[in-house]
Amino acid sequence: MVRAGGIDLGGTKIEATAFDSDWAVVETKRIPTPQDSYENLVDALCEMVVWLEETAGSKGLPVGVGIPGFHSKRTGKFLTANLLASGRTVHQDLIDKLGRAVAFENDCNCFALSEAMLGAGRSYASVFGLIIGTGVGGGYCSNGTLISGLNGAAGEYGHLGIPYMTMKELGLDGIQCGCSRTGCFETYLAGPGMRRLAKHVTGKDADAKTITTAAAAGDPQMQEVMRMWARIAAELVAALQCTVDPDCIVLGGGLSKIPNIDRLIAQALPGHLLDQTEPPEIRVAEYGDSSGTRGAALAAVQNYQILEEPS
Ligand SMILES: [Zn+2]
Repeated sequence: MVRAGGIDLGGTKIEATAFDSDWAVVETKRIPTPQDSYENLVDALCEMVVWLEETAGSKGLPVGVGIPGFHSKRTGKFLTANLLASGRTVHQDLIDKLGRAVAFENDCNCFALSEAMLGAGRSYASVFGLIIGTGVGGGYCSNGTLISGLNGAAGEYGHLGIPYMTMKELGLDGIQCGCSRTGCFETYLAGPGMRRLAKHVTGKDADAKTITTAAAAGDPQMQEVMRMWARIAAELVAALQCTVDPDCIVLGGGLSKIPNIDRLIAQALPGHLLDQTEPPEIRVAEYGDSSGTRGAALAAVQNYQILEEPS
């Protein structure tokens, strides 16, 4: 029996998944993300909600949508990498068109919720989901509740600045980030950032796979690249400790697939956290690409429970 549905709105495809009461996948449907008009984008999301209702055989099915970007709880407007949806009130427009409730959540928060409730962080009270891929993003979940903030931007640690002393110690320059700020963690931690470190150390262009394979085979320069990368990651963990101090950090995104990445970061922590404090557990995500839809569906169920609570 279908318990909830999750929709992941990506730049190229929209994926919808129906989950059963054990949160196993019942059925999945993918369609291309409309690129021509906003109206067609909203229609495509409606189509997925209706498909989920039909798959479940219930119009009251909790459905959530995960979207890359933020939306202001005050204005309802989205700021997203999906240009058609940016500046638009997607959530309200979808509700108006469907005549039913649908939950919306930032995609990094969906990942954090999914891993905190069902994945690698399920035995911990407070979990930070840290996604390191083409960018660096994240979300924080405390006792099963997402702390997402006014814009859903809480957890965007990729856009904090790397400490000046760390940059100096590693001999790195401040690089302008896609967010328009300079010296963000993302500029050296994300996939393109690791590439930037390799260029800094070796003078050559190498992607993350080449770097990590060569480092594992004993290449001293690539090992230095990985040491520098882990040193910067340790500073990000220190920033997390000083703010939300999570029990566990669950790693997701493309770079989380690097063998032993959790151990590499954990080994880099001593000396960089607050003196005599316990380090958080570093774990790799259990759900990979399905975290977006699973987290969106979980957010929908939680929203429904709030709505159903007697006042
Ligand atoms: Zn930035």
